[in-house]
Amino acid sequence: MTLDDDITSLPGVGKKRAEKYAKVGVFTITDLLEYYPRDYVDFTAVFSIENALPDTNVSLKVLITHKPPSVKLRQGLNLLDVKAEDETGKISLKFYNNLYAAKDLTVGEEYYINGKIKYDRSGIYMNSPKFLSINADKTIIPVYRLTEGLTQKGIIDNIKEAIVCLPDEYLPEEKLNKYEFIGIKKALSDIHFPENTADIVRARRRLAFDELLKVELALVMTKFKLQCGIKMSYKPAEMARFEEILPFELTSAQVRAISEITGDMRCERMMNRLLQGDVGSGKTAVAAAAITFAAANGFQSALMAPTEILAKQHFKTLSDILTPLGINVCCLTAAATARETKLIREKIASGEYTAAVGTHSLISDSTEFKNLALVITDEQHRFGVRQRAKLAEKGENVHKLIMSATPIPRTLSLIIYGDLDVTILDELPAGRQPIETFAVTENLRERAFGFIKKELNAGRQAFAVCPAIDSDNDMMSAVRYAEILRKHFPEYRVGLLHGKMGGNEKDEIMEQFKSLKIDILASTSVVEVGVDVPNATVMLIEDADRFGLSQLHQLRGRVGRGAHKSFCILITGNPSPEVRERLKFLSSTTDGFKIAEYDLLQRGAGDFLGSRQHGLPEFKFADITDSELTNETHKFAEELLAQSKDLSDFPLLKKIITKKNIEA
Ligand code: ADP
Ligand code: MG
Repeated sequence: MTLDDDITSLPGVGKKRAEKYAKVGVFTITDLLEYYPRDYVDFTAVFSIENALPDTNVSLKVLITHKPPSVKLRQGLNLLDVKAEDETGKISLKFYNNLYAAKDLTVGEEYYINGKIKYDRSGIYMNSPKFLSINADKTIIPVYRLTEGLTQKGIIDNIKEAIVCLPDEYLPEEKLNKYEFIGIKKALSDIHFPENTADIVRARRRLAFDELLKVELALVMTKFKLQCGIKMSYKPAEMARFEEILPFELTSAQVRAISEITGDMRCERMMNRLLQGDVGSGKTAVAAAAITFAAANGFQSALMAPTEILAKQHFKTLSDILTPLGINVCCLTAAATARETKLIREKIASGEYTAAVGTHSLISDSTEFKNLALVITDEQHRFGVRQRAKLAEKGENVHKLIMSATPIPRTLSLIIYGDLDVTILDELPAGRQPIETFAVTENLRERAFGFIKKELNAGRQAFAVCPAIDSDNDMMSAVRYAEILRKHFPEYRVGLLHGKMGGNEKDEIMEQFKSLKIDILASTSVVEVGVDVPNATVMLIEDADRFGLSQLHQLRGRVGRGAHKSFCILITGNPSPEVRERLKFLSSTTDGFKIAEYDLLQRGAGDFLGSRQHGLPEFKFADITDSELTNETHKFAEELLAQSKDLSDFPLLKKIITKKNIEA
């Protein structure tokens, strides 16, 4: 029997049983070994009958004193009432209908029993207790998720048979020892049949580590597999002109980022870099520098944004910088007519446009470039392991730069961005005034409105963001809010923006807001993604507790982008202390990394990353908020790779590191 064998090769597993197993995704011996217990019954934590509290789950050690025949209580209800005792008292073990369950209980023998303690007039009893002979070799019994036709005992028996064939260790023993991980054979056998709770803890730690390690190595391997990129050369004159054209001095973080990026593009290996920078850190200027560099080398670039609004904005910003440098930029989104699209595509194909900005459709098959060498994706907060893999699969050996506005804790970024080199823009342009944040309850809304009025009177603008679009009873909706604002601010122009609007309509509203034709914009979180209105100084957020902290931080970053002092007002009707605590934390810091870390710990990885977007597999054991284990995993991975860059020294390991590890 081998690990890849069908489970029908186990004694006692026929076709029928195999069908039952198929329902829970178990087909092979390996699958069965990875069908981990969902819980354990620990028969060793023994109480005495006298000390056991009612309605709690306990284990007892009892002697069976009497096992009468079952009695028929009424039609269809039989009771087998087994009597048992320990030194401190007596107990009834009641089995209804399932008389077979008690067949192994023998009078005069001692057993561990486990169940919920109950009392009634006739005394202490347990319904359908689990039990175990005190002569059993293990006293912790695994509990498996069941499906119809599978019993705990049946699964245990099958796994006992299967466990003779365990996988060989695929990690070097001395390294496992160094980090105090147990071997894989022991981990797999202990996770099913532990001697004690310490065994379970050690087994879980090893299996959690393996899950993380496989993902990280799979990502790193894709990084090493990168083909040769298009090699470019130094262009000092063009880059100097770029800096002259810019209306501001680059921050030293931007300078460093640009030199890392152009360094990548001068290398043989294709660039695959993440540019991570808090809102307002100036990623666009860095993107512009990369495009300038590619253009100076005679190559085309593409920049993809997640939304139309953002594509338009990038187009404008980039044109302002790039056009004076003689770089022709175009914008291609779904909003363009078929004729316009055709024309733009022709000019991209001919090379007349050196840089193309657009939504993701830009990279669709029908867009042909003359000599595309750089693709920049403005992912904002979207983490797309899968999306990235897709982009890489397109096979074009172009350099890739991914911009992300959500700082994520380093430990997590190692797991999610293991395939990327990372540059962090950890500095905001000088002269930025920190945004002041207030978290208030609903009864202070009037005062908030009064404050907004003062700002509007001074010629500024305000955002008002709501969690819902329209008619949601629970949450404030943007549509309703626009009405409220119109009533409150009759002398000002109120706009409305939400995700149900068409692309053109959204763009138009955003344009009006930018060009000061709208004073207050009621909106949903669609404004979250990077839209720039320097004259806006107030970001008011209703039902702020409905948003994640990182998202609130993003929204807050929509203001404070100009010369004026800006404010963020978080309104919530939720009185819970946790909510207050969270919002207070956000008010106390503007450091995106700190906020991300806090958010991650509070909400757990799934929520933090936005469930399915991240594309990581579901871990059975690993908790990526456990920074100690993620750190150890990372060090372990680095040491393996330092010894053998393509893992060829570890053939067994290499075999199990497949693309499967990074696909959900
Ligand atoms: P983000 O990283 O959030 O995408 P942007 O690239 O949109 O940030 O830049 C935010 C604002 O800061 C823009 O108005 C941009 O012109 C400005 N900016 C960028 N870099 C600098 C700098 N070095 N000095 C001053 N202002 C800058
Ligand atoms: Mg941006």
